[in-house]
Amino acid sequence: MIREILEYPDPRLRTIAKPVDEVTDDIRTLIDDMLETMYDAQGIGLAATQINVHKQIIVMDLSEDKTEPRVFINPEVDVLDGDAQAMQEGCLSVPGFYEDVERIEHCRIRAMDRNGAAFEIEARDLLAVCIQHEMDHLNGKLFVDYLSALKRNRIRKKLEKLHKKSA
Ligand SMILES: [Zn+2]
Repeated sequence: MIREILEYPDPRLRTIAKPVDEVTDDIRTLIDDMLETMYDAQGIGLAATQINVHKQIIVMDLSEDKTEPRVFINPEVDVLDGDAQAMQEGCLSVPGFYEDVERIEHCRIRAMDRNGAAFEIEARDLLAVCIQHEMDHLNGKLFVDYLSALKRNRIRKKLEKLHKKSA
């Protein structure tokens, strides 16, 4: 089922997500909904926060042909190399805006998969950027928070205007 994606500056995007205690069938249904919603919106990543579910779950697909869904439950990131890289980011909750954000370029991700099994992987480049972006969502943070107040307010005003029109 495709879920509604919250858009900035919706205050619900500021909610801190809670860890998942147990990966049940309900959680797997939620994961399927998140993947369906992400693919439908043509995104490469989605955090549960963005569909107003405040659990620590992230889905992602960085493949060209959208055939490699990834799931991260209760993810944790260890920095392996503190060097930062700037990459242009967008967000399904901030539609239509793309800005450079600096992120750690090399990290290790520890999480559970959709069967509740623990795994860890090393991440660089897009995967490293994407996991940091999505983990920010779980902590109530958005990429616009890294921009200047001037830029952020300009984006907020434009989106508020759009939301008023479609309301
Ligand atoms: Zn996002």
